[in-house]
Amino acid sequence: MSPKADDALDNLLMEKAKIVELSDSEEGGPPFPGSHLKRDVHPLPPWLTSPALNLFPEEYATASSDAFKKVRNECLPHLLGEDNQNLPLNKYGLPHLRREQHINFLHSTLGNLPAPYVALDAARPWLFYWGFSGLTVLGEDVMQYRQRLIETVRPMQNLQGGYGGGHGQFSHCAASYACVLSLAMVNGLEEVNRNTMWHWLGKIKQPNGGFRMAENAEMDIRGAYCAFIMITVLNLPLELPPSSPARHAGLKTFDDGLGEYIRSLQTYEGGIGATPGDEAHGAYAFLAMGCLSMIDAPNKIIPKYIDTSALLRWMACQQTQPEGGYAGRTNKLVDSCYSQWIGGTWALLQAAFGAGEQESSENVWNKQALVRYLLTCAQQPGKKGGMRDKPSAKPDGYHTTYALAGLSAAMNHYHYDTEAPTRSESGRLTSGFNWSGKSPTPEKMEKLGVEESDLVGYVHPVYVMPFKVVENFSTKFEKGGFGKE
Ligand SMILES: [Zn+2]
Repeated sequence: MSPKADDALDNLLMEKAKIVELSDSEEGGPPFPGSHLKRDVHPLPPWLTSPALNLFPEEYATASSDAFKKVRNECLPHLLGEDNQNLPLNKYGLPHLRREQHINFLHSTLGNLPAPYVALDAARPWLFYWGFSGLTVLGEDVMQYRQRLIETVRPMQNLQGGYGGGHGQFSHCAASYACVLSLAMVNGLEEVNRNTMWHWLGKIKQPNGGFRMAENAEMDIRGAYCAFIMITVLNLPLELPPSSPARHAGLKTFDDGLGEYIRSLQTYEGGIGATPGDEAHGAYAFLAMGCLSMIDAPNKIIPKYIDTSALLRWMACQQTQPEGGYAGRTNKLVDSCYSQWIGGTWALLQAAFGAGEQESSENVWNKQALVRYLLTCAQQPGKKGGMRDKPSAKPDGYHTTYALAGLSAAMNHYHYDTEAPTRSESGRLTSGFNWSGKSPTPEKMEKLGVEESDLVGYVHPVYVMPFKVVENFSTKFEKGGFGKE
């Protein structure tokens, strides 16, 4: 071969291959292009290269650094592609989204459950809510469950308003949230007694602006988010019912004092705690931002009550390295459910920075890293399907739903229309209905390492369900009041 032809071949190979430099001992080894040529088909991202993996010296071990090491060791073989768990890979070397297996798994969570699940009896609304929610995120129709669901939730609704976790149980915000949104997914919201729901919510609204989870129960941000889900989905009057203890303390509407209450939840770290003084936690960041975003445009209301720069910094710091998923609190381990609780909060926080900033802050968090973690580490291999917290955990409906929602947050772009009205003529809060979604461009898909078949649908940034369901309930009960609809 002439030297010129050799050069041409070299150039050709350079385009597709990485030439690994020969070490001294290898000189005179196999002739070019011999076994020293390694095809670098799927180069590793920078956070998975050895300088980034060796930032902390091993000799300063603590109980938590040992726990980190254990998780890192269980995740790295999957992240690096050394162990693909026999999952079929896409053209970027990442496992495909196991759509069919996840769908089958979610359907199985809606069937007969093994005996130990009796411990979750009071959480039954969550079980069907996660099943429906995960299935709709994957584009599945859940209308086949409509009648069964209606019959299941009917005895859970109490005469005094709201839903308990089962027949004869006290009404509770979490159970009511899961029942109402599950009914929304099967177009069954007429089953809800809106009038008694309004009265019940009036009883849990507190003089300090916050909400209890149930009458005489604990007060935290979950109550406020769930209450505003019910108020906006069912178009309940914003005025407090006459019997509300908060009204006796001088408040007039459900949102009175709420912004100030939420302000009191931001901690010294910049994140949001469940109650004032509590440690910052990912799920509460989502609930606080989601709650505010139902009351007014996020670009107006979030900066009014929250130090957005401090929150941004805290959220960014919860993305773990090298796993690339999110931890829920500082110095905790990666867990796929925070892909939604923190990953899903980015759209709300980005909208808080205003119209122009929504697009330019597209790269404020590492979406590729989250996608890689979820596809390589969170998917259960084998026949079963479903998604798990981390490789050593078992899949369940909760992690499947929120891992899928996190994938959607990383893949799609969500835009808030800052020009759209935030109140309807009937006085309904419509701020939560002003969102739209955009699928990734081919360039973005390449960057994320996903193919068309790996994409998940839009998940609404406030209501965490498909836009189609949100569109349906945003026009239901349009007139408000409790007359005949
Ligand atoms: Zn989790």
